[in-house]
Amino acid sequence: MRRHVAAQAPLEACGLLAGTGERVEAVLRVRNAAQSAVRFRMDPQEQLQAFEWIEEHGLELVGIFHSHPAGPETASVTDIAEAAYDVVQVIWSRTQGIWTARAFWIENGQANEIPLKMD
Ligand SMILES: [Zn+2]
Repeated sequence: MRRHVAAQAPLEACGLLAGTGERVEAVLRVRNAAQSAVRFRMDPQEQLQAFEWIEEHGLELVGIFHSHPAGPETASVTDIAEAAYDVVQVIWSRTQGIWTARAFWIENGQANEIPLKMD
C-alpha cells in the first residue's frame, strides 16, 4: 500500500482491502478516476473488477484505503460525508516525507480511530 500511495502522490491514491474478519489478506489498487490531489473517486470499472476478484477468492471487503498526500492525517469532511460502505477506512498521510496509515470507522457522521496493526 505504501509504495502505491507514494507512487501516486501528489495525487490521492485509493483501493480496496480484502480479507476475512478483521484481517486484510490482499490490497487491491484502484485508479483514482478523479485524478485529484484532494479527493478520490474510484474508477467504476476497476472497482467492479476488484469486487469480482474478492468474490472469486472467497474473501470479503474489509476496508477501503486512500491517501492524503497533503494531509490531513484524519478523515476529511468529504470522507465522512461520502463513506459508502460499512468497512474500515485506512487513510495514508504524508508528513515531512514519511507516510503513515491510520484507520477509522465512520458512522453517523463521525470518524472514530481504531487500532491498525501491520505485520
Ligand atoms: Zn480523504
